[in-house]
Amino acid sequence: MRLTAGGALALLAGSAAARPRREHVIVLDAGHGGIDPGAIGVSGVYEKDVVFAVTREAARLLDAQRGFKVVLTRDSDEFVALRERVRRARAAGASLFLSIHADALPNASMRGASVFTLSEKASDKLAEALAARENKVDLIAGIDLSQQSPEVSSILIDLARRQTTNDSIRLARTLVRELGRNVPLLRDGLHSAGFAVLKAPDVPSALVETGCLSNRQEEKLLRSPSYQRKIAAILARAIEAHFGRTA
Ligand SMILES: [Zn+2]
Repeated sequence: MRLTAGGALALLAGSAAARPRREHVIVLDAGHGGIDPGAIGVSGVYEKDVVFAVTREAARLLDAQRGFKVVLTRDSDEFVALRERVRRARAAGASLFLSIHADALPNASMRGASVFTLSEKASDKLAEALAARENKVDLIAGIDLSQQSPEVSSILIDLARRQTTNDSIRLARTLVRELGRNVPLLRDGLHSAGFAVLKAPDVPSALVETGCLSNRQEEKLLRSPSYQRKIAAILARAIEAHFGRTA
């Protein structure tokens, strides 16, 4: 069977249209937890505790919005492996995955928030590994690949990955824009890297570093409930904006 990219797109679009409209499932991933404290701030505060507070508040704000359902990858001080976080996100039917962290840098004068997406290189490697798998049936939500030939399957996976990459970059840019309006950014704010936690092929994902725990001033802010609420509100607003809603 010969199939053009346009044909594959039509197939994708058909599958999407056949699905019933549903709410957006927002998966918020508080970094670290349990035996893994994450970064440790200059005063001794743990990253896992700061980001859990921010995540819970962002979840509360988003859950109050109609059409959003929030799922947390951890809802207590629990250790969760990176792969398990991705698995939980996919099991929840995630429309979006945001991993929330706080940085510690060797240079204590550096401060500011930054946002990461999965780099192209890492995405490509992932796609290769995925395409090589025998059973691709459950890889892309809503598309039954068992009905497709191997060549069609690999085109569909590639298209879904591109869509995901584009959506992830759009999400990251929206986060950088909303953060930049309200808090200092580290360098230009937007970066890409091969984070294992971002490797869900069919879920637009980003990772946000809410600030630097290695900077005395910013650590003090990140420890305070009022600043945690401020960051949470920014993240919630960016997610609403990503889905075309104005706050
Ligand atoms: Zn972290």
